[in-house]
Amino acid sequence: MTQADLPAGEMKYSFKVHVQAHGFAGDQIISSTTVNDLVKSIRLLGHAGIEPTTAATLPIGNTPVCPVHQRPMKASKRPGSFFCTAKVGEGYCQEKAC
Ligand SMILES: [Zn+2]
Repeated sequence: MTQADLPAGEMKYSFKVHVQAHGFAGDQIISSTTVNDLVKSIRLLGHAGIEPTTAATLPIGNTPVCPVHQRPMKASKRPGSFFCTAKVGEGYCQEKAC
């Protein structure tokens, strides 16, 4: 990236997340004038005990896809493991990932 690729004027970035912290849940908006500071601020949330309320805030690239149904899997209650939400007959797809 060259200097010419950077915006000349002052930029403002904001990022809205739904989080929970210390027994409360709500929206949090992180604002920054540089992308770098925005990313740093997001990374600091975990250190402050602020956690995202849904797995949807994870990057899509980290979500496994069911090899049978080709759909993104859903995070299970056990951290780091995922299951497929597709229905198969009377039950659900048994594909799991972790
Ligand atoms: Zn499946």
